[in-house]
Parts: sequence; structure tokens; C-alpha cells
Amino acid sequence: MNSPVFVTQSALPKEETYLEYVRQIFQSHGLTNNGVFCQRLERELEAFLGVRNLSVCSNGTLALQLAIKMLGINGKKVITTPFTYVATVTALMWENCEPIFADIDPQTLCLDPARVESILLEQPDIGGIMPVHVYGNACDVQSFADISQKYGVPVVYDAAHAFGSRLNGKSLLSFGDAATCSFHATKLFHTVEGGCIVTSNTERLHKLNLLRAFGHIGDNYSCPGINAKLSELHAAMGLSLLPDAPDNLRQRARLASLYDEALNINGNPALKRPVLAKGLQWNHAYYPVLFATSDLLLTVIDELHRQDIHPRRYFHPSLTELPYLPRQSCPVAEDAASRVLCLPFWADMPDATALRVAQIVNSTTAGFA
Ligand SMILES: *Cc1c(COP(=O)(O)O)cnc(C)c1O
Repeated sequence: MNSPVFVTQSALPKEETYLEYVRQIFQSHGLTNNGVFCQRLERELEAFLGVRNLSVCSNGTLALQLAIKMLGINGKKVITTPFTYVATVTALMWENCEPIFADIDPQTLCLDPARVESILLEQPDIGGIMPVHVYGNACDVQSFADISQKYGVPVVYDAAHAFGSRLNGKSLLSFGDAATCSFHATKLFHTVEGGCIVTSNTERLHKLNLLRAFGHIGDNYSCPGINAKLSELHAAMGLSLLPDAPDNLRQRARLASLYDEALNINGNPALKRPVLAKGLQWNHAYYPVLFATSDLLLTVIDELHRQDIHPRRYFHPSLTELPYLPRQSCPVAEDAASRVLCLPFWADMPDATALRVAQIVNSTTAGFA
């Protein structure tokens, strides 16, 4: 009997590495409040990613909220994609923004700049744009930079999936007025719970760091901040896992090739993969496939469930269908959401597991031409 297989398995560092940090924390009694491990994690992440002005925080959702507040677009209309995790939109709503959905590019599944521009032409009161680098694929960052300039509207990337993805050699976190990442346990790199914001200058970084910790300057209060600090125990998990990141990325690339081959991905009429942006060095954060029809997808899910394998329908439903928002129509996103599936995928997934999943997908879709 095989044990259950989930869409991912959280990475863990060597126990001894983490425990050594914990011992130091027990000696120093330094548990939180922008402590030494927190600051060290920021410097090491900046070096690893090749970015500046990085601030860690307690999760990827608050990272988005801090970025929105820092740019002063809270309370405004913000154009975003419906093809993302729900937190992109709820973070906007918690900052009193009105999410305006624009449709996605059918190839990359990222927000389509042409759709964004037509909304900007129709609605002059748009305060910001929040595209998502879905699955670690890259948005059309050049077009968004052009649009941002032309209309004077800031761009915040939800780069929750983009850790380790590079576009023409540059980290995806380095684009936009701000970019946020999630370090949740299910993400490629994590701190159990956590996240970060990368911003374009030190003045913005300073503001973010105030917002992150109650707006304190010494005993004075400079602005209405929140508590979005990362604890030292969480930072220690990040410091323990970061040295494994290059190997993690290599393993993912290798496993993705194994899946590609086992699924005959380039010649399979039943399924295909999203198209990667030109110039992207992908982090393989997920292994998404688009089935030819949603019926086919549902049949495959049933069969995988029968074998105790639990893929996830990232990202279904399209957020245009959220019950607490007025309906908006984005047919491309709705179609993709109805056919997409993320297969089980993590850096040290056994080859045999990938081959078993692929074999079930193949036998279930064999009749499809
Ligand atoms: C995971 C995720 C978030 C939220 O991050 P948390 O750290 O879980 O709060 C936001 N946006 C996207 C696209 C995500 O996948």
C-alpha cells in the first residue's frame, strides 16, 4: 500500500542546523523584534536573490498589505488578476481597495497588459496594478513598466511564487515599485510562516519597516503601523533552509524534465503546460498542466484520488466567482481555471512517485485524441 501523496511536501533543513540556531536563541533570549537572525536573513536573501531593500515579515499576505500601504494605494481601485490564490484579492480588500479584474494571457496565464491598459483608459481613477507571477512564470514586466510610466500608476507584483525565478538574469522580485514573496511552508523556500517585500529605494524600505512594527520610532509613533514582524525562530528556519535553495532549484528542474518526458508533454493531445515567458530561468515552483477539457481534468482527479494521490486545482475557481465580490467577467481566466491542475511536486519527491502519477494520468487520458 502506498502512503498518500499530496501536491507538495514542506522542505525541512538538517535538524542539527536548525537546533544550533535554537540553542543560540535560548542563550540570548532574543526571540523577536527585528533580531539578529531576522536581519541576517534579510542580508542573505538580498545576496542570494541579487536584490536590495528587502524586508522580511510574518507572512505573504501581510507583505502585500504592507506594500499597498507603503505605496499609499490603500482605499483605491487596483487592477489585478482573477487567476491567483485568494490572498492576492483579500489582501487588497483588507486595505479597502476595490479589486478590478483584468483577464490573463492564455499562454503564460499571467495578467494581460493589453487588458490592463484598456481598463486604465476607461477608468481614470485606478490607483494601482497588482500582477502575479503565477507559478513563478514571469509577467510581461516591460509592458507593465511602460504602462506604469504612461498612466502614473504604481505596480506591486505578487511574487509569492517567484523565489528563485530569474528574467534575463534578474530576480523577478526586483521588478515593480514593490514585489512581495511568501515564505509559507508550502512554498519553494520558507520560514514556516513568513514573507518579504522588495522595494525600489531605501526611503520606501524605511517606511515599510515602520509599518511592519507599529510605526515605532523609539518611544514615538510615526504612523499607524501593524505587527507584521518575523520571529527569530522563523528567521532561523529560513537561515537553515537557504543554503539548500540552489540544490532545491536543481532538483525541481530535473523532476520537471522527468514529468515532461513521462507525460510526453510536447506530443500529448490531452494536456499541455503553460508557456514560459521569454528569457525566464524558471524556478519550477509548481508543476501545472492544462487538460484539453475540464471533463478530462475531473476524470483524472477522480482516478488520482482513488489511488490516494491529491493534486490541487491551483487556481480554481477563477476569483471572478468569489461570492463576496460583484461578478466580473474574465473568460480566459475562467477557462484556464476549469482545466488546470498542479501535480504533486517538491524538490525531493522520489522519481518513482512522479512516474506513478504520470502513469495514472496517461492511462486515464489514453483514449483522448
Ligand atoms: C501563498 C500566496 C499568498 C499568501 O502568502 P501567505 O504567506 O500564505 O500569507 C499570496 N499570493 C499568492 C499568489 C500565494 O500563492
